[in-house]
Amino acid sequence: MKRDIRLAVLLLSIISLTVAAATAWELWAARERTLAKAYTHNLNLTQALDTYVEGIITQSSMLLLGLAERLEADGSGPAQLERLRQLAQRQQSLLSQLDGIVVYDANGAWLMSSNGNAPPGTSGADRSFFIHHRDTPSTDAYIGEPIRSRSTGKWVITVSRRYNHPDGSFAGVISVTLGVENFLQLFGKIDIGRHGAIGVTTVNGQVLVRYPFRQSDMGRVLSRSPIFSGYLDHAQVGTATFNSSLDGIERIYAFRKNERYPLVTTVALGKDEALAAWRADALRTVGIAFGLLMVIVIIGCLMILAIQRRIRTEALLVGAREDLLKANRQLEVLASRDPLTGLQNRRSFDDHLAAELRRAHREQAPLSLLLIDVDYFKRFNDTYGHPAGDDCLRSIGQLLTDRVRRPGDLTARYGGEELAVILPSTDSAGAQAVAEQILQRLWQSNLTHVGSPFGRVTASIGIATLPAGSGASATALIGAADQALYRAKADGRNRLDSAPSLAAAEP
Ligand code: GH3
Ligand code: MG
Ligand code: MG
Repeated sequence: MKRDIRLAVLLLSIISLTVAAATAWELWAARERTLAKAYTHNLNLTQALDTYVEGIITQSSMLLLGLAERLEADGSGPAQLERLRQLAQRQQSLLSQLDGIVVYDANGAWLMSSNGNAPPGTSGADRSFFIHHRDTPSTDAYIGEPIRSRSTGKWVITVSRRYNHPDGSFAGVISVTLGVENFLQLFGKIDIGRHGAIGVTTVNGQVLVRYPFRQSDMGRVLSRSPIFSGYLDHAQVGTATFNSSLDGIERIYAFRKNERYPLVTTVALGKDEALAAWRADALRTVGIAFGLLMVIVIIGCLMILAIQRRIRTEALLVGAREDLLKANRQLEVLASRDPLTGLQNRRSFDDHLAAELRRAHREQAPLSLLLIDVDYFKRFNDTYGHPAGDDCLRSIGQLLTDRVRRPGDLTARYGGEELAVILPSTDSAGAQAVAEQILQRLWQSNLTHVGSPFGRVTASIGIATLPAGSGASATALIGAADQALYRAKADGRNRLDSAPSLAAAEP
């Protein structure tokens, strides 16, 4: 029973744990799926944006190449510059991201600007791209840091190229300026949530364009960002999750390094935002799982309570049964005993004799019966009173009990002052020996009886023995013992007499 409760608790725990574990596992897996989807989405976006940026830079480079070749072939006289300006203006209308084209001479002075005449004295000598080209013989295009245009005041990125004198010496720089605003307009059309961000940076982490736009981010170097301080060393493309070094928000990043230019495109989604739908689902799932667990726990508790109730009821029943058995045993004892002498009563004597007769027959064993009658007992009562007579009977009963002790032997009060002893598996000689000893002990007890010629209480005993293999009935056995007793009385009392052998069965 206790085991049932333990089993129920175990079962309940296993089911609860399984439900909880399965729910946790499902939540975790769903979260991983959501994040993986976000990463893929970001990676796809970086691919598209990288191609877009690369296209613009390539177009700018081609434009620069054409202009540089013109300058190097035709020189930079006023007429040539004017033709160049017209050409630049035509190109500008074809490339919407293009903000302007400026030609600098070897000292950094503006020779030509596609957006009109340069303000007098305007110089680009201090611009880093100018210094780069002046000091580097390479004629490759150079992507410079974002700057504020001196002609329009807007944020621009420069793509620039050096042009040379026929002898190969530095003649000046041509720069194409790309408006950051144009990039921002496109990036703004892409849905990346409230905390998303799109960035184009140099491989060193210098911000060229970042959406959403913040003045303070322009030109900043994100050297602390894990992408630039680690990831890019090992991979051209990748994903990462970390807190932005610009605003501290945790984001899911995808980055892609351009294959031709030293540029990196980054797309980021706010992690909280990316997981918002998952979180709503998770809450619902947790709610359902919790409800289920509650139902399981309640049913389990009811089950355990029911088992406990059954245990208590059964304990009560067992207790009641034991009480009943005890009462029955007491009742049996009471029903089989003679209250005066404590010997077995007549009913018990009859039952026992019948049973022993059957056994004697079955086992082919002898069986003896003694009938004992106190001598002159009427006189004893008359002399000493009835209560003294009772005491005398009790003493004789005790005497019998002390003498007749073999298992299976039975001493009973046959009726009045007549007592009986059943001696199973005892032949005539054995029974006579027992009877002799009883008479002897009673004699030695020396219970005074002035009314008796012996001066003490004596008894007469009639013995009947059923030899082994005989099939006589109880009535025959008792009758024979009674006749023997009668003879003992007639012969003078205080003696025993044995019935002749009982051989034939009575009908
Ligand atoms: P006998 O030697 O021939 O046996 O003489 P007796 O006086 O014993 O004669 P009998 O057996 O006929 O008398 C039985 C007497 O035993 C009668 C009755 O007063 C007495 N008696 C029987 N049962 C009880 C009993 O329970 N208590 C007492 N005190 N006396 C009893
Ligand atoms: Mg009698
Ligand atoms: Mg008598």
